[in-house]
Amino acid sequence: MARQIISRFSFLIALSLLGGCATVATNTSQTFDTVVVDAGHGGKDSGAWRRSGPPEKAVALDVALRVDKKLRDSQLKTVMTRNNDVFIPLDTRVDIGNQQANAIFVSIHFNDSRRSGVQGFETYYHSPYAFDLAAAIERNLSTLPGSINRGVHTARFRVLRNLRYPSVLVECGYLSNRSERREAGNADYREQLADKIAEAIVNYRYGTDAYRRSNAMVARAGGGASIAPAFR
Ligand code: ZN
Repeated sequence: MARQIISRFSFLIALSLLGGCATVATNTSQTFDTVVVDAGHGGKDSGAWRRSGPPEKAVALDVALRVDKKLRDSQLKTVMTRNNDVFIPLDTRVDIGNQQANAIFVSIHFNDSRRSGVQGFETYYHSPYAFDLAAAIERNLSTLPGSINRGVHTARFRVLRNLRYPSVLVECGYLSNRSERREAGNADYREQLADKIAEAIVNYRYGTDAYRRSNAMVARAGGGASIAPAFR
């Protein structure tokens, strides 16, 4: 927690030193009516991948599609940078995002590490205006049973620093970790991930308890299908 406060503070100092320089994003964090949902990787870019599980591009897309639906069910407008297995350059993702008038940008990824024991959720931001949203998503994901909160961090990823309004990137667990890889391959678990991300966004925008979980979500109980065999 201390690190989050320090990194936020240092960004506010950096912001004041910039003195309103054009690189600072517009603060739509309290007003946005559109969420740009960005599924990481796609097409020739598989992202993180291990032989015994689905590639990052497939599980990131699946979670993103679920987040997209939940946000639309909550009366937010959405734009997806991709909704199938296609390669989209990073700058195109940024362009799609920056074409929206009053939006935030949420990028969905899964993580990778050479150390198979590393696990947990991480959320990244660049604009100081995006910190609270990043923290809200990280905090909400960390309410999933057995989850590990690896914190909120700043990063200079292109989809964070080139957006003209608040942008966050969510790492939904490590595909290099056997346990999180198995969970990522489970549709019910991906539904829970999407639910936590959507809940954090909706409650951040409209206030605590604004999010209404769908009846289908409440009725679900274990044993969902795995990711499509085509992605194995
Ligand atoms: Zn990724």
